[in-house]
Amino acid sequence: MDNKDIKILVVDDEEIIRRLFTDALKGWGYQVDMASDGKEAIECCARSDYHIVLTDLNMPNLDGISLINRIKSRWPLMEIIVITGYGTIETAIDAMKLGAIDFILKPVNFDHVRFIIKKCAQKIKANNENQELREMNTQLRELNEMKDKFLSITNHEIRTPLTIIRGYLEILDTVAMEIDEESQEILDIIKRTTLELSETVDRMHTLSKIDHLKWTEIGSAVDICKLVKEIYSEMERLFHHRAIEFYAEHPDKPLLVRGTKDGLRLLLRELLQNALKFTPDNGKVTVKVISDLREVIIEVKDTGIGIAYEKQDLIFTDFYEVQDSINHKSSQAEFMGGGMGIGLTLVKDIVITLRGRIIVDSEPNVGSTFKIYLPKLAKKAEAPVDAVIHS
Ligand code: ADP
Repeated sequence: MDNKDIKILVVDDEEIIRRLFTDALKGWGYQVDMASDGKEAIECCARSDYHIVLTDLNMPNLDGISLINRIKSRWPLMEIIVITGYGTIETAIDAMKLGAIDFILKPVNFDHVRFIIKKCAQKIKANNENQELREMNTQLRELNEMKDKFLSITNHEIRTPLTIIRGYLEILDTVAMEIDEESQEILDIIKRTTLELSETVDRMHTLSKIDHLKWTEIGSAVDICKLVKEIYSEMERLFHHRAIEFYAEHPDKPLLVRGTKDGLRLLLRELLQNALKFTPDNGKVTVKVISDLREVIIEVKDTGIGIAYEKQDLIFTDFYEVQDSINHKSSQAEFMGGGMGIGLTLVKDIVITLRGRIIVDSEPNVGSTFKIYLPKLAKKAEAPVDAVIHS
């Protein structure tokens, strides 16, 4: 909001004074109208939204005090500044009690007028910005609620037919049936893509509020080394398939952190799934667990495409993807495979719930390292890195 957006009404029965104020205010860039008494001023206010009314107190028809009364009762947000002489200073105080924001003393010093109008305009601008922020916040909240509603409805609507398709596919598998090679290939493609669609729907559900709460429970003690070992063996074949060297390094003894097994599993899988997706074939991915006195540090490092510095904060926001989703491959295990931009939002939420922190260090075309620091639960679990497994 600039000066030109602020509308001022000058009310004075003396034409020369009206003109003087009007010319000065116009010169400072404000929009200005004039009225010759209180009655005309009310008519102007009814026609147009003024931000400021600058009024004399002694006027015929409707005096300044009555004018303030009427304006404040009908348009409480309009600011009023009164012009008064020394003789009527008490009336000016009455005017302030009725809601006028300030007064200008006659004989008029225009530096002072400029200062008072500027102060008042600043207040109006700040109110306006606050109002805009409040409206934007409400809009964001509504959008967020709509997103959650949309996710849970589509989830349900997609899940039901998917369950039926998968059920019949399983029946087809169990029924002994002679089919030729080409039909078998087609059937395999249907099975694979149905499974991928189910996974996508599961991920969508994970984002919806109810499940989000489930992932971010505080939980109790989880041995992170054991979990890494399990996930390593579950995901190993995916890396192997793409000729990516995959290493897991962790102490051979338990390292306990607070959390739920499901939440920490999701966290590790999301980071590793990203490392797999964004590392070209023949690259290298390492998941490493180390600990210091107070923290357990989980590091997932890849030699993939990396993330530009200015995007590194954005990747933790809902539905944000650095790459254009049009260029995605359909499978999540392929290089530049598809995603929905929600994994890291969830990872960050889980880490925050567990009073930890996440740091990303990445360089385009060199690779990325995600480090998660979680509070350690027991000292006795500490041990040097003595177990290394790789694909
Ligand atoms: P998505 O499901 O799309 O992978 P995420 O929230 O997990 O969603 O990640 C958001 C975006 O951050 C990704 O789409 C990708 O652009 C970028 N990103 C995440 N991890 C990596 C990584 N290891 N290497 C390069 N880019 C990454």
